[in-house]
Amino acid sequence: MTSPGDEALPLAEPDDDLGGDPVCWLDRVCPDCGLFLTDRTASTCPRCGAARDR
Ligand SMILES: [Zn+2]
Repeated sequence: MTSPGDEALPLAEPDDDLGGDPVCWLDRVCPDCGLFLTDRTASTCPRCGAARDR
């Protein structure tokens, strides 16, 4: 008999370092152009200039 190999874990799950739902960072995405705002202190979108609510 031939073995397919060592014991592999077919159900290996990738590490979710982000943690949390995508909704968590929805408020960090520009509602106008969809640009991800890394600067949370920015009051306006650096790309389209749309004012942010928060
Ligand atoms: Zn924008």
